Amino acid sequence: MITPTIQRQLTRSIRHARCFSSTPSASAQQVKRLGVIGAGQMGLGIALVAAKTAGVPVTLVDTNQTAIDKGLKFADKLLAKDVSKERITQDQSDKIRSLLNPSTTMDALVEVDFVIEAVPEIPSLKFDIFSSLAQICPPHAILATNTSSISITRIAASTTKDPTNTSASSRVISTHFMNPVPIQKGVEIITGLQTSQETIDTAIEFCKAMGKIPSQSADSPGFLANRILMPYINEAIICLETGVGGRDDIDAIMKNGTNVPMGPLQLADFIGIDTCLAIMKVLYEETGDSKYRPSVLLRKMVDAGWLGKKSGKGFYDY
Ligand code: NAD
Repeated sequence: MITPTIQRQLTRSIRHARCFSSTPSASAQQVKRLGVIGAGQMGLGIALVAAKTAGVPVTLVDTNQTAIDKGLKFADKLLAKDVSKERITQDQSDKIRSLLNPSTTMDALVEVDFVIEAVPEIPSLKFDIFSSLAQICPPHAILATNTSSISITRIAASTTKDPTNTSASSRVISTHFMNPVPIQKGVEIITGLQTSQETIDTAIEFCKAMGKIPSQSADSPGFLANRILMPYINEAIICLETGVGGRDDIDAIMKNGTNVPMGPLQLADFIGIDTCLAIMKVLYEETGDSKYRPSVLLRKMVDAGWLGKKSGKGFYDY
């Protein structure tokens, strides 16, 4: 729990980190090229909104060519829908599409001013990527992560072996977009201990240029959104596995009783069952609090490969 004392300590630490930050980072006006790593459901959405709303060219990196092809096909579908609803013209759609430049290698990020990582929620994978980004990207580039739960301070620390050298770690921040990115306005801005004020300002400005509404939160397990949302989803799964209610009743009561577009089990399918488990594990392990214990059924579903909408089967069939 973040007590006022811890909050004050965090704020002081952030101020302290600002004093150490030596490398000036890009300002939002200087974000002339964005990099996005991971062309999955979040990365593709971020890339498309950045091209469409902020009007910046995007280098979209995914090691899996099939994921890139699938992502760009989805972008084409969303743009065609915008044209058919007369929200944009065909010319505008073509221009937006031409701003998306795919690549299967991170070396393509050599000229970006701002990069947003959206690869799966695996700590070691993210640490490796940020260690590489510190080498590949220009020395002013902001290095942002879309992580749902991994400590930003720890991700920032992976950029260097020398903790006194904050030239790269001060440029690490989280821009935690909400799913689906083209629709949800909210974005959580989470700072690590090392994050500089210029980095915070630029990230907020750039998210606003993407048409988003930023909220700031401290680097604490689950941050704000998932600290609140995931125990809710996990509890719904426990209700299902212990027979308190069936799938449709659980979703119906929350949908019709709290005026949300979908119930917690359908939402879990949309987020990804594996992502939900990864976040619950972080909450449980980082706080040591049994109230965050991931449900047994959640673990079993991941073991079965029933990951929700993306795998065709979750609590519902797709
Ligand atoms: P996803 O599985 O849909 O996509 C991840 C993509 O990363 C895949 O296309 C994969 O091929 C690619 N990838 C894997 N290793 C890579 C590497 N080394 N280099 C480049 N690309 C690589 O995942 P997602 O749902 O888009 O989630 C991405 C991140 O966003 C995670 O950290 C997740 O926690 C976070 N997030 C997810 C949601 C959600 O609702 N799904 C919401 C907010 C944040």
